[in-house]
Amino acid sequence: MSFSERKVFPVAKDKRRISLERAETLKSRIEDYLEARKTIPKGLEKKEALAERKRRILEHLGGKEADWADHRWQLANRIDDIDTLKALINLTEDEIATIRKVDKMFRWSISPYYLSLIDPDELIDPIKLMAMPTYLEIEDETTGLDPMGEEYTNPAGSITRRYPDRLIINVTNECAMYCRFCQRRRNIGTKDVATPKDRVQESIDYIRENEEIRDVLITGGDPFTLSDKRIEWILKELRSIPHVEYIRFGSRTPVTIPQRITEEFVAMLQKYHPVYVNTHFNHPMEITEESKAACERLANAGIPLGNQAVLLNGVNNDKYVMRVLNHELLKIRVKPYYIFHAKAVRGTRHFNTSIDDGIEIMEYLRGYTSGMAIPTYIVNAPGGKGKTPILPEYLVSRGKDYFTIRTWEGEVLRHENHPTLDIEEALKKKRR
Ligand SMILES: *Cc1c(COP(=O)(O)O)cnc(C)c1O
Repeated sequence: MSFSERKVFPVAKDKRRISLERAETLKSRIEDYLEARKTIPKGLEKKEALAERKRRILEHLGGKEADWADHRWQLANRIDDIDTLKALINLTEDEIATIRKVDKMFRWSISPYYLSLIDPDELIDPIKLMAMPTYLEIEDETTGLDPMGEEYTNPAGSITRRYPDRLIINVTNECAMYCRFCQRRRNIGTKDVATPKDRVQESIDYIRENEEIRDVLITGGDPFTLSDKRIEWILKELRSIPHVEYIRFGSRTPVTIPQRITEEFVAMLQKYHPVYVNTHFNHPMEITEESKAACERLANAGIPLGNQAVLLNGVNNDKYVMRVLNHELLKIRVKPYYIFHAKAVRGTRHFNTSIDDGIEIMEYLRGYTSGMAIPTYIVNAPGGKGKTPILPEYLVSRGKDYFTIRTWEGEVLRHENHPTLDIEEALKKKRR
């Protein structure tokens, strides 16, 4: 017996009929997604394959189960040589030759954990695209390495300041994995260097002297590659500044080396609340038991989590992949915050998409899914002039006292636009 045949509370017949028809239409709006969802690989549905790859990697590197769980082991054993890589995933002669060439221009390095997310037998795999060099990097003729002019927004220390009330401190150039689409690859260099303590101190002093700075974002590189001790020193210093209202970290470690998020680490972080963490998942395959546990540890310590994805050709420039990603994120208590349009940085051209791809993704989120699952799509204005939100057009036109709007289903409707009442005036009139 279907729901509509069951005895239910009496409702006027036509109301129920109209409601049931509407429900049928709504059902039809999601059928394509339900089908597409099945074909998208998800880390949480590949437990056995991931366990097998982990076993193979551990065996090759001579590590034990306990090593895998230790972020220091993960960091120290990052794979950055072709012999290890080709022993662990199937590479064509072409791929091997390419990596040897790219190696001379752009650094690469993959944590053993992140390597385990790559399907070793697939030629084109979204995780592999993000982690492993391809010849497209060296063929790219884009000239700029600093399209955002970040080097012109550095008033002191290792600060990037682009907004009135908030700024970034860059605390290291190190990452657990060097993403092939990295927009700050000019900072990666050839070796890992934490920003010298006196340079961080200079940044902190600048914040202390500028009272309008109420929001401090600690990033890099990846700030969570620093030791707990160094991170705690930064937090303590910032917390001694009364006008710093809250502190944010931008870290991809929950994705690339989730073992970093230990109980001791989150216990330290939560002493400095309010602390926020924005992380960076780009594909549902990155959401695994391990990254889920990392996010849950942070969330349980009262740290709200946001996600800053980058729109990447071949990885997530697909309306279904992005919807699945946002749903999977909310399930592990991460709120989708931004989708960034990729910038033109040398060596990353092949990852850039058209802005139309981004608009289409946004079009198939609003209405189709929870508002909770909808991040803001951001195009960075040239020259680092600021994050600029881009939306599909919902405002069709406007007149003197009306707006013509378009709904998520494409219906065009007129909405009155009455002037705002002067509430004080209205209340006074009533009393008279
Ligand atoms: C992105 C960014 C911020 C933070 O921006 P929000 O929109 O507040 O998340 C702050 N400073 C700089 C320089 C940035 O690039």
